[in-house]
Amino acid sequence: MKPTRVRFAPSPTGFVHIGSLRTALYNHLFAKNRGGSFLLRIEDTDRTRFVEGATENLINVLKWAGISYDEGPGVGGDFGPYYQSQRSEIYRKYARLLLSKGAAYMAFDTPEELEKMRLAEKSARDPAPRYNSAVRLKMRNSLVMTQAEVETEIEKGSPYVIRLLVPENRTFEFSDLIRGEVKFDSSHVDDQVLIKSDGYPTYHLANVVDDHEMKISHIIRGEEWLSSVPKHLLLYEYFGWQAPAMAHLPLIFNPDGTKMSKRDIQTLGELPPGKVDPNVETYIKRGYEKEAILNYIALLGWNPGEGDERQIFSLDELVKEFSLERVNKSAAIFDIKKLDWLNSEHISRRDTSVLVSQIKPQLLDKDVEIPSEKYLFQVVELLKTRLHFLNEFLPIAGYFFADPEEYEPDAVKKRWKDDSAKLVLEFCEQISNLTDYNAGTIEEALRMVAERNNVGGGRIIHPARLCVTGKSVGPGLFEILEVLGKETVLRRLKKGAETIPTIKQ
Ligand code: GLU
Repeated sequence: MKPTRVRFAPSPTGFVHIGSLRTALYNHLFAKNRGGSFLLRIEDTDRTRFVEGATENLINVLKWAGISYDEGPGVGGDFGPYYQSQRSEIYRKYARLLLSKGAAYMAFDTPEELEKMRLAEKSARDPAPRYNSAVRLKMRNSLVMTQAEVETEIEKGSPYVIRLLVPENRTFEFSDLIRGEVKFDSSHVDDQVLIKSDGYPTYHLANVVDDHEMKISHIIRGEEWLSSVPKHLLLYEYFGWQAPAMAHLPLIFNPDGTKMSKRDIQTLGELPPGKVDPNVETYIKRGYEKEAILNYIALLGWNPGEGDERQIFSLDELVKEFSLERVNKSAAIFDIKKLDWLNSEHISRRDTSVLVSQIKPQLLDKDVEIPSEKYLFQVVELLKTRLHFLNEFLPIAGYFFADPEEYEPDAVKKRWKDDSAKLVLEFCEQISNLTDYNAGTIEEALRMVAERNNVGGGRIIHPARLCVTGKSVGPGLFEILEVLGKETVLRRLKKGAETIPTIKQ
């Protein structure tokens, strides 16, 4: 069996689309799962769409995500260069080969002549006529011109392209690893330009040549490339090469069912309803965890198997589980709520000590005083299941580092009763006597005060939480009180008992 060699072959035309990251991830998973190689090839031959910095950006996103490649820019490999813009000579050589076999021809038509043809051929049945067997003999190309005429044009320096000769009445059939049998009729295929007038190849020629030269065994890419397959199959046939196996991944849709497109791009939060931002960097900036993004995009089109309800996967687990058989045919809908959920799941499952080291810089940056490493560990341990984003830590955890300056007005209104100050102060009294101060003994103390006053525990728990945190919700009160320490707790309870009644007036 041929070794598994797959590639991610982006065109650096702008930002990294969520769909591209998924393609890169699936290729990486597929290669690692089979002990094969994954390579990165930059398809930068379309100079009109080239965007400065886009390649570097893309490489950085892959690095950030931990999607490593075995061959490619910055890594090297036996099949380079891995930038198509540095391989022009190779494509020209193959284009000449096609010309010599009569599988391609030179076309000198000007843009005006092409437009004229389109207008003339346009009909209700065929609103977008193609340059193929239907018209090619009416055009200015080497199929109809004499050798002398062709040579004169070349000498004159007239711009020309090289086109693929697509046979009439051919059916192209192939078996896609995800979509099954796919058929195309050659009347729907145009005589694709292979070499443009600037001498650069189009995607189609460069892609086929490189997949062959780089010994690619499987092509895994987005469904938008499916319609290019007949042209590619024909090229493989003309060259006498075996085409790699192919797998076309389902599209990713906005929640409103439209294709996730660059046009929708604005910042998250300002998007029109029903749309999501397709730019991976927006999610990175927003503070999403890479594990969550990878996990989420893995599930956008793939599942671990029928009846398997698992949703949380690490990159290693994905490598182990991934197979193309479990990739869906139908389009996936991007669901930001699920991504958010996965983000909090990944955070809450992470080792507390790792979280501490990730969170600490945020605190230092804001000059927050951290009493001790142990203290921070306990706070993180207590809050980690409540964090949706790591950058939300400080807003949620503020009261662990400073006394509350205000008390949530709604909670004051709802929870603070006429006897709350008295109950809180009695609770203070009770815990000040504790020699062994921990969540368990604190709870006992509170229950005792409640019983003595013939009230439910909630009548002290809610006001005490308000005094100590300023908030109405949070982790278990007794754990908070233990972590904060007796001195701080007594100070805050007393201050709350004094201040809150004045706010309530
Ligand atoms: N350069 C194409 C892209 O930008 C590659 C498609 C393919 O993988 O064949 O996605």
